[in-house]
Amino acid sequence: MSSDASPPDVAASDPLFPPAALGVIGSGQLGRMFIQAAQRMGYRAGVLSEAEDTPAAQVAHWTILGYDDHLPTLRTFAEQAEAVTVEFENVSAPALRWLARRRVVRPGWRTVWVSQNRLREKSFLGRHAIPHAPWRPVRTGAELDSAIRALGLPMILKTAASGYDGKGQIFVDRAEAAAGAWAHLGRRPCVAEAWVEFAAEVSIVVARGQDGAAACYPVALNRHQRHILDSTLMPAPVGPIITQEARALALSTAQALGTVGVLTVEFFLTAAGQLLVNELAPRPHNSGHLTIEAAVTSQFEQQVRALCGLPLGSTELVTPAAMVNLLGDLWSQAGGQPRWEAALRADPGVALHLYGKRAPAPGRKMGHLTVLDPDPQNALFRALAARRALVSSPTCTLPSLPGSG
Ligand code: AMP
Repeated sequence: MSSDASPPDVAASDPLFPPAALGVIGSGQLGRMFIQAAQRMGYRAGVLSEAEDTPAAQVAHWTILGYDDHLPTLRTFAEQAEAVTVEFENVSAPALRWLARRRVVRPGWRTVWVSQNRLREKSFLGRHAIPHAPWRPVRTGAELDSAIRALGLPMILKTAASGYDGKGQIFVDRAEAAAGAWAHLGRRPCVAEAWVEFAAEVSIVVARGQDGAAACYPVALNRHQRHILDSTLMPAPVGPIITQEARALALSTAQALGTVGVLTVEFFLTAAGQLLVNELAPRPHNSGHLTIEAAVTSQFEQQVRALCGLPLGSTELVTPAAMVNLLGDLWSQAGGQPRWEAALRADPGVALHLYGKRAPAPGRKMGHLTVLDPDPQNALFRALAARRALVSSPTCTLPSLPGSG
């Protein structure tokens, strides 16, 4: 692996102290939790949002409505925000470059630009010899054929841009099905990836300051359902060697990108104990939500600190923990509002987070539950039990029969 540190992705700047105004581009739950962390520290935190009443806009001190590639909107945003961060990777890189000439912007446009496109991301991993699954670019029918020959089957076709939570991905197990799968993805530029028979999926959230100092959270063990994160426990029971290797890979990835801010590295862990980088996210991640309660410094506070040029906080866990996501499906299973009271009453150690989204839809992330427990497996067991209680029917009490005492 290259040990050359890339130049920092952003220009150095003096620290920004509260009550400076911080702005986040994107207004989902990650923006909401960034704003809440910034406000707790005394900053005036706002959002560039495409709509009103979004998870982030609901809690923000100020909101600029509009799109990130609209210059007048960017100008107004830059007038409000002294420093800018992002809550997702699909932000216009030219907009970030424009903003960076006027304001502190972290992560920088290069980190975002690499991680918003799988072709660029895989090429970056290859250039820096960071281990990842075998892959091939697919931009033409001929490239699709040669990808099948090179990778074998099964493989997975993923659109290069705009994919998340399994969207824009098709599993291909027969050569005859490949052309149809690519047509289904609109014949857009894709990566074809060899299918990995992984034993587990793990991730690491790393924060990196402008001085190059970096801090990793413990390894998270993640379980997905329908390609969407379902649960996380931390620390992952993967032993000291895998833990060390995952940390080293996460740190060198952040260094190679020159990232200033928070970067999440997702891995496949094979049965033979090999770590392969699956995806990079230049921001806090769903698998780090449990750091709000479980770590000395949450991943969102770390984002604030890195943005403002403050010293990074401790990433130590106060106690092991588990998180389960609450998807919109729960609302249909419950036939309306989930039974919040049942879940909270059954286990007073359950922390409930809801993101303020009005319309529950299947697969939509509406909130999460976190449980702290000295035994992370037990934390997961308790979190899953609380989630089941949200949709289980109320225990019915039988009326007492006359003469039954
Ligand atoms: P991604 O959006 O690339 O993170 O993919 C979402 C999920 O799909 C991953 O977390 C895995 O569970 C699964 N997946 C993606 N790529 C592969 C692969 N090459 N082999 C096996 N499973 C995969």
